[in-house]
Amino acid sequence: MLCIGLEGTAHTLGIGIIDSDGKTYANVRSEYVPKSGGIHPREAAQHHVDVLAAKLLETLEKSDLTLKDIELIAFSRGPGLGPCLRITATAARTLALLLDIPLVGVNHCVAHIELGRLITGFKDPLVVYVSGGNTIVSAYEAGRYRVFGETLDIALGNMLDTFARAAGLTHPGGPKIEKLAKNSARNFISLPYSVKGMDLTFSGLLTAAVNILKEGVQLEDLCFSLQEVSFAMLTEVTERALAHTEKSEVLLTGGVAANKRLQEMLHIISEEEHDAKFLAISPDLAGDNGVMIAWTGLIQFMQGDILDVKNSQILPKWGLSAFEFTRT
Ligand code: AMP
Ligand code: MG
Repeated sequence: MLCIGLEGTAHTLGIGIIDSDGKTYANVRSEYVPKSGGIHPREAAQHHVDVLAAKLLETLEKSDLTLKDIELIAFSRGPGLGPCLRITATAARTLALLLDIPLVGVNHCVAHIELGRLITGFKDPLVVYVSGGNTIVSAYEAGRYRVFGETLDIALGNMLDTFARAAGLTHPGGPKIEKLAKNSARNFISLPYSVKGMDLTFSGLLTAAVNILKEGVQLEDLCFSLQEVSFAMLTEVTERALAHTEKSEVLLTGGVAANKRLQEMLHIISEEEHDAKFLAISPDLAGDNGVMIAWTGLIQFMQGDILDVKNSQILPKWGLSAFEFTRT
């Protein structure tokens, strides 16, 4: 069965096609990059409107398929920015009605995890999901992805991007910080380390880093220290969740999963300390994409989880653990 997935929770408009055997036919993306500051929801939504039709045609061209071949349509129903979600939801409903095929509403966080499981072959991992909008340590138990630890304020990716902007680096900041950190002399600059029980906070760390930046320190050293502190915080919480759940696999997913230093830290606590296998999703599928929506849509469809168009409203605050989901 062939499914097309539409992703549009935030900055990325993604369209992907996958079949029920897990074969990807196309993975097309377009990212809204703010001219200044962070994501403006209305501008991001306008970006999605502007590119959607062309990206849909590109997806079909790349996959060598026509719309008539598509048997199922999935869209990111939430969580995310309302104006952005509405664009892809409207497009998905239109296609479902036009093609007379079933419609499935997918939880964006579950989609990152499920694509990660497909790519890595992991059966039941502890999941570290870190992106521009989310920072969650989770594992599946009794019909839901339970949250063991998460950020209490901003996401790790958002913190990196905001710091990068203050340092005059362009969006997305995460990869630029990684590069600068790699080239640093590794002079550690002390920064606040903030773990609260199993949860994390990044806003104080961000403020401190921005303030130190103004004092005129080496940017490379500050990037190095920011990564060391924020990744160590996340690694501490992950290790505790791993000790508690005793999972034998650890999966890193979301846009920040592309970071080699974060991978290294999680690899050490997983493989060396807890005898668990560690894998990160491949960089091309780490960030938001349509393939993850299509794949999770297929899983939901197999469970009979189909949406009536008239009841397919978006769910901007649809948390990971709020979604009852039967895994295959
Ligand atoms: P997503 O929200 O899943 O699309 O992921 C986007 C986020 O991933 C942004 O905050 C990026 O800065 C971040 N990101 C991407 N590549 C890297 C990297 N190599 N290191 C750290 N963060 C990254
Ligand atoms: Mg995401």
